[in-house]
Amino acid sequence: MKIKRIAVGVLSANCYILSDENTKEAVIIDPGDDGVVLMEYVDKEQLKVKYILNTHGHHDHCSDNAYMKEKTGALVGLHKEDEIFLVDPDATGNFYAGSEKMPPADFYIKDGDEIVFGNCVLKVIETPGHSKGGVCFYGEKEKICFTGDTLFRGSIGRADFYGGNMNLLIKCIKEKLAHLSDEVTVYAGHGAVSTMGYERRMNRYIR
Ligand SMILES: [Zn+2]
Ligand SMILES: [Zn+2]
Repeated sequence: MKIKRIAVGVLSANCYILSDENTKEAVIIDPGDDGVVLMEYVDKEQLKVKYILNTHGHHDHCSDNAYMKEKTGALVGLHKEDEIFLVDPDATGNFYAGSEKMPPADFYIKDGDEIVFGNCVLKVIETPGHSKGGVCFYGEKEKICFTGDTLFRGSIGRADFYGGNMNLLIKCIKEKLAHLSDEVTVYAGHGAVSTMGYERRMNRYIR
């Protein structure tokens, strides 16, 4: 699996484009903005994008869902609980100033689902707390985990937005992520890449 990280938008959300090197099938995790830049990579690599996945519904991670869908024909998937951020931003306290309505999901993802592209598989791990519908994507074979705004290098996400719950966030991290082995690479929704080994030593929410 090839992994490309591109920081997008004013909040520098990490968009990840994952592709199977043999079949060129790909998924895009969190196309939060800068779709033109993302498409340059997709075109250069001649990728066939199958799915656009959101770790959660905040606009810094989803803003260019529709643009990328239009350009690639891929289907948009996110957790049902976070679809409200896309279709009715006003109801969520307009987390992101000036948020515009976005198209709904094409499909919903939930705990245990397996996303398949080429010979690659990502498993969905529900980790609500930063938002109600927050998820992580875990690649068991490659030992990789895309954690959105749930887990950052040395820190965790905020819980003071619509639907956030700090106790639940910490509980999810301890029960659903903390058991991942030290070698698992952590690709967070903002900031630098980490490993579970580093988090186990340095992140007080996991220790
Ligand atoms: Zn967020
Ligand atoms: Zn974010």
